[in-house]
Parts: sequence; structure tokens; C-alpha cells
Amino acid sequence: MQELTHYINGAHVKGQSGRFADVFNPATGEVQAKVPLANAEEMAFAVDIAADAQTGWAATNPQRRARVLMKFVDLLNRDMQKLAEALSREHGKTVPDAKGDVQRGLEVVEYCIGAPQLLKGEYTDSAGPGIDMYSMRQALGVTAGITPFNFPAMIPMWMFAPAIACGNAFILKPSERDPSVPLMLAELLEEAGLPKGVLQVVNGDKEAVDAIIDHPVIQSIGFVGSTPIAEYIYGRGCSNGKRVQCFGGAKNHMIIMPDADMDQAADALVGAGYGAAGERCMAISVAVPVGEDTADRLIEKLVPRIEKLKVGPYTSGDDVDYGPVVTAAAKEKILGLVQSGVDQGAKLVVDGRDFSLQGYEDGFFVGAHLFDNVTPDMDIYTQEIFGPVLSTVRAQNYEEALKLAMDHEYGNGTAIFTRDGDTARDFANRINIGMVGINVPIPVPLAYHTFGGWKKSVFGDLNQHGPDAFKFYTRTKTITSRWPSGIREGGEFNFKPMD
Ligand code: NAD
Repeated sequence: MQELTHYINGAHVKGQSGRFADVFNPATGEVQAKVPLANAEEMAFAVDIAADAQTGWAATNPQRRARVLMKFVDLLNRDMQKLAEALSREHGKTVPDAKGDVQRGLEVVEYCIGAPQLLKGEYTDSAGPGIDMYSMRQALGVTAGITPFNFPAMIPMWMFAPAIACGNAFILKPSERDPSVPLMLAELLEEAGLPKGVLQVVNGDKEAVDAIIDHPVIQSIGFVGSTPIAEYIYGRGCSNGKRVQCFGGAKNHMIIMPDADMDQAADALVGAGYGAAGERCMAISVAVPVGEDTADRLIEKLVPRIEKLKVGPYTSGDDVDYGPVVTAAAKEKILGLVQSGVDQGAKLVVDGRDFSLQGYEDGFFVGAHLFDNVTPDMDIYTQEIFGPVLSTVRAQNYEEALKLAMDHEYGNGTAIFTRDGDTARDFANRINIGMVGINVPIPVPLAYHTFGGWKKSVFGDLNQHGPDAFKFYTRTKTITSRWPSGIREGGEFNFKPMD
């Protein structure tokens, strides 16, 4: 069986701790590799190397740093198919979906090529008599990121591209479920010309994460994952004096108004609810039709579409809508929540519980489920399911639908489907959620805007990518300067040397 490594100081390094985690092929259920789980000593070793490498990297001018990223983009495009297949093999998502994962990371790398412009400071000439004032953005030093399993290419790139563009060294602790693509990304960056030690990948679990949080040299931590872990890392990281941004879980509502284009809304719900097996933080997991008639029309449109979804392994080509979920534990949790929905009185309109795929009986496949008549007290409503399960909560009017989404503890994304501009505008203004779609089900902002939710979906002030990333990965220094005047005679500058 393949034994994966860390990537430290430009080389693949075997794990020293003696602890490993299994990496599965979710389509077959087989263990295909084991990944080492670093201890605090291994993390400290990587931090020392990062600190050494960072000084020279920060002194490299931003245009040269940007050129490395430019070359990296070329290499990502060159290896797109290879990266996508490796990603699908460990994650389970379809190959087109895996390419999208790489692509959305690549777009942030492209944005970061603008580092020379984005890092320019500010200058005030003659802020006082003979006094000038200027500010500059300087790198933090050694930075670190902890990433989830569901976007093993995109989210690492969202973190390390701005971090290194700003002149930091970065230590990535990827998800132990799908660590191969992050290792491949580190190799490609070195091929693009990144000096050794500027980007390192240290694999691990809680022990490695705690070693990051407690290491005094690490200046900042980026985290994306579930809310309880986000809250833990934010609290402990901040109390250790670090700059921390943590992005957590989600329960994204889509409101369907009576005047919505119902075919468009149903198509959008199927893509946003079941794509990537529902394992997206921006997946729609709650449909909120307004009015009984709207609800009936929506369910009628949804059922045949959901029943037609094709579930299969990534090796089936483009013909599959979604693949397996990531682990047997994830499958068990999803099916447990489905059962709780039935037990608590929701109506299971599409029942995927008996789904099984011939030839892949041991894979972690979950059939598509649709619930109707869900109420806000049910576990399937309060909890993030992170699987192919869509819950319908019927609202009697717009205000009730709006309040429902606003009262939920998560606030990552949301959408409204309507033909009425006034309703859409009101929704966008009043909703307490970070990313809003108007007739767009998954409103993920592009690289040059910022990505982030509100409420329990985020801990920290600044969003991911866009201009916020350049703020997160730099510190501002402001200089006030006055030079002693020389004595000018006849236009000549007459400098008197000091004794
Ligand atoms: P997770 O919280 O289980 O793991 C995320 C990372 O934290 C991994 O690297 C893991 O090794 C580490 N970790 C796990 N348990 C830990 C512990 N006890 N102490 C310290 N570190 C620990 O999340 P996941 O299952 O990999 O990813 C799915 C979650 O991520 C979902 O909740 C999803 O909504 C969320 N997510 C959020 C966003 C966003 O931008 N808001 C984006 C993608 C995913």
C-alpha cells in the first residue's frame, strides 16, 4: 500500500510519529494509501525551515514572486487532468467537478499575480512641515492553514497563494482524507520556481493542528472546516496572540417566490442540492417555497428530476451527476439524519435509503433524498447534513421565509428565486447572510471579490481571497519621516558633515 509523505524543505519526507490515517477510495471503499500524522516535533522542524526560507522570500521583489505564480498557473493547466483524477480518486467527486475544484483555486492564484499592485502602500507628501508619511504592507512571517476534505485543491490555493504572494512562508495541514493533491500542488510550485521551504505540507490530525496553534513562531492561521473545530481553533489561536480566520459550516436556504420561474428554480435546486453529493459549504440544503401552491408546484417539478440523477464512480466519465460521499462514517451520519427526519415526522418524498450500485456495493454511495413538510425543530433542519438530502420547509409568506433563514445559526450562503426586483432587493438588503444569490443558487464570489459567511459560519473579521486576503496576510507599518534640512546657497545644496 502506498505510504504518503509530508513535503518539507522541498522534499518528500516520511512520517516520524509512527501514526497514520487510512486514505480511502470512496467509490470502492478500499484503503488505497496511508497518510502520516505529524507530531509537534515534526511540525516544529517544518516551522524552523519556513522561518529561514521566509526572510529571503520576503526580500524577493513582488514582481518576481508574482512570476512564480504565473508559471504555477501554467503548470496547473498542464496537469489539470492528472490533478483532477487524483482528487476524484480520494474525494469521490466526478472528474468535471474535480477540475472545477482546481479551476476555482487557480483563479485565486491568477488574482494574486496582481501582488505588485495589491501590495502598494500609501503616501502623504508634506503631512507636516518637512514631514512625509507613508504606509506599507509587510509579510507576517510564517503562516499556516488547515483545510477541509471537500475542496482539497481550491481551499489550499485560496490560502497559500495570497500568503506567499505577500512574502510569507506557508505551512499547509490538509485534510487527512484526501492529502495527495495538496502534495502535488507543493511539487508544482517548486517546479514553478518557488524556493524550498516557502510552501510546505505537513499532514496530520488534531495533534498537528494543536502544534500549529501553539507554535510561537507561526503568526497566522487560516482554517476552513466544520463549525465546532472552527470555534475551537479561533478561540485557542487568538488567545495565543495569532491572527486567525476560521470558516465553518452552513445550512443554505433557497427561497422560491410564487412568481419564480419554477423550471429554473427546480433545475437550480437539483444542481445546488445534490451536486458533489451535497458536500459543498455552499450547497443548498433547505428549499423554502412561499405559499402552499408554490410548494406543490415545486415538489412536482423536483421529484422527476431527482429520480433521474445518476450516481456513480468518477471512472464512469461525464455521465454521472455525483459520486460517493467521502467516508463510511459520513454515509452513516447522513443516513442516521435521514432516519431522524422520518422519525420526527417529515415526509420523505424521494427515498434513497436503499440505494446500492452494482459492482460498488462497498463504496460510500448515498442515494438522493427529498423531504417535504420539514419544521425548524427537526434535526434535519438544525444540523448540517453534508450529503445529498434536500429539506423543504413551507412558508406561508415572504416575511416568514426571510425570518426562517435569518433565525438559522449558520449564515454562509442563500438564494432567492423571483421575477420581482423589489422583493429581491429587499431580500439582499435585510438578510443576515454573507453571500446572496438572486436567481443564482450557488453565489460563490469570484476571486477578485471576497468569500465569507456570517453568524456561526465564520470566526474572524476578514474574508477569504480578494482584497481581504492581502490584508489578512500582511501587517501595515506607517512611517512618519522628517529629514534635517541642509543649507542651500545660490541654489547649491550645501551639506554640513557632522562632527
Ligand atoms: P472538519 O472540521 O472535520 O476538518 C477540517 C480540518 O480540521 C481538517 O484538516 C481536520 O484534520 C482538522 N480537524 C478535524 N478535527 C479536529 C480537531 N478535533 N481538532 C483540530 N483539528 C481538527 O471538516 P471536514 O469534514 O473536513 O469539512 C467539511 C466541513 O467544512 C463542513 O462543515 C463544511 O460546511 C465546511 N466548509 C466550510 C467552508 C466555508 O468556506 N465556510 C468551505 C468548505 C467546507
